Amino acid sequence: MDERKSSIRIICAGGREIQLKCPICGCEEFYDRKTLLNTAGMTYLGLDWANDEATNYVCRDCSYIFWFENAREKLEKPRDPLKELEADYTALSEKRLRKIIDSDNYNDTAKKAARNVLSKRRHEI
Ligand SMILES: [Zn+2]
Repeated sequence: MDERKSSIRIICAGGREIQLKCPICGCEEFYDRKTLLNTAGMTYLGLDWANDEATNYVCRDCSYIFWFENAREKLEKPRDPLKELEADYTALSEKRLRKIIDSDNYNDTAKKAARNVLSKRRHEI
């Protein structure tokens, strides 16, 4: 595997899928590498509790480094367009979702996804 291959990275965290974006330059492509956490320097600093690997994601453009002790990267793009849309719509307001459902500009899958998100939200309240 080419460690220097930059691509869009999606991390699973707290039940969500979050696309990494560089906080410095805004670039959305990263390459990954593993780094041992129990280096001599870390031990010296009293951080030798973490004797395993970290995953780094390095920004393609400015080389800013993200550190994850247990990164759970989503490697495949979602294949289910309904699930994908539901994930996209989760952040939308109820008003926006109703607009999607009522609008003629959206296909049936989009409307179904909006309906699912709305009904899920009702169950949470
Ligand atoms: Zn960057």
